[in-house]
Amino acid sequence: MQQTSNLNKLIVITGSNKGIGFGILKRLSTRNPNYNFIMAVRNVKNGEEALDKLAQEVQNAKDRVDIQELDVADSKSIDNFVERVSKKYEKIDALVNNAGIFAMPEGNATGIDQETGLGIGDRYDYETSKWTFQTNYFGTVELTLKMLPYIAQNGKIIFLGSTYGGLSKLRSEELKKKLQDPNLTTDELTALAQDFIESSKNGKPSERGWQNSAYSASKLLINTLPRTLALNSEVINKNIQVYSCCPGYVATSLNNFSGIMTVDQGAVCPSDLVELPWEVNTEYQGKFFRQSKVYEF
Ligand code: NAP
Repeated sequence: MQQTSNLNKLIVITGSNKGIGFGILKRLSTRNPNYNFIMAVRNVKNGEEALDKLAQEVQNAKDRVDIQELDVADSKSIDNFVERVSKKYEKIDALVNNAGIFAMPEGNATGIDQETGLGIGDRYDYETSKWTFQTNYFGTVELTLKMLPYIAQNGKIIFLGSTYGGLSKLRSEELKKKLQDPNLTTDELTALAQDFIESSKNGKPSERGWQNSAYSASKLLINTLPRTLALNSEVINKNIQVYSCCPGYVATSLNNFSGIMTVDQGAVCPSDLVELPWEVNTEYQGKFFRQSKVYEF
């Protein structure tokens, strides 16, 4: 992958006070002295503590990182964030949609079920599905669409998806076909997200062709989202690059630190996408990446 550095850029990273988001912030700020950042966090105090930590390792970190409050699960918070940021800055060069949640089963995540490929204890009850999707999918899409007018020409939008949300976990060929349709729009994808929530209301999502995991389904849709955004006229007109990626199985609070990779390792693929040249690459546009390579999820 060809990379660029030493350009003046402003990068928003959601959920960057800890975990992979913090790793991306650290990697990009270390490698690109001319990048500045908006650390978008739901708890400003946690953001300040994270910035203190970053400042011990990265030069001028406090001059280069602006902490802004954002809860991606809350429309009002999204509106306030977009208003503040758009008034303060002329344009945003990249939006990294990293914030995400996983509903831990009682007793915490324990591993992967060999038969289903899902985490043992993955939850799909209605309440869990609703709030998992609110953060991982609906809020992430809402933030992205509301930020779109402020993303620079030749900018980038990157999502943290997961190979855990692979198409092979679906139980219906028809649903698989819908998700693979090259003409699928973001609205149609959102309708499918709503279908998952409905399916969790009265029984098992697998009865409607889904996997029995709210987290895995939410990430499957995030893996697919850039392909739909690549058809958006504003994305096309501004030559914005849109990608999703899997950071790998990383030890963070999301999985009770059961992951096998470090945060620094998990930050590599999403950071590589931010560092791609600032012009649309037709080979990559709308695609999903793993280990910094295009990957069929
Ligand atoms: P993490 O350590 O739990 O960090 C998650 C971050 O997201 C935290 O900063 C958290 O803020 C923030 N967040 C959660 N809900 C939010 C909301 N409503 N609004 C704003 N921020 C919110 O988890 P992680 O493992 O680094 O995960 C980062 C991303 O990578 C997620 O999208 C995850 O699905 C994805 N991912 C992770 C793995 C893995 O193995 N870890 C694998 C594949 C994909 P608080 O500190 O306030 O909670």
